[in-house]
Amino acid sequence: MLMNKSPQILATPWNESSGICDCCGRTSKTIWGNLSANDRTLAVYYVHWTVDAPEHNPSIDLLVGEWGDGANAQNRVLVSLLFQPSANGGAFMIVDGQGRLADSRDLCARALRRAEVVGTPLAQEVFGLVDAIWLTEPRIAEVQKLNKLA
Ligand SMILES: [Zn+2]
Repeated sequence: MLMNKSPQILATPWNESSGICDCCGRTSKTIWGNLSANDRTLAVYYVHWTVDAPEHNPSIDLLVGEWGDGANAQNRVLVSLLFQPSANGGAFMIVDGQGRLADSRDLCARALRRAEVVGTPLAQEVFGLVDAIWLTEPRIAEVQKLNKLA
């Protein structure tokens, strides 16, 4: 049997912002960028967390679909996840994307519900994208650091 080796997915940072967490006044951060393989953009990501606050589950919003020339929001969907920090490396949970900041018709056709993603091929794709953020996004170390505080 011929095994297709998946191309390496790479995160490319675009920008970041910081703010104040509504509930506790600590600094919150958002970073964003794109994920690509073989120079083709697969998704745009936003990661949001509160600094040094593992009890605030960081969120990951992925705009998955077509990003090339001629593609528009109709060619993309939003998949949202939460990261639950813990001493053994943490866990990711797919959640409903409705109402997230990236749930905008300028960015995607619609936000998917958890039940539309879990157990589907899209979930496999999404976890591959999240892996790529974890392995290749240079700023993600600050989120991973929350595992040590959890
Ligand atoms: Zn807070």
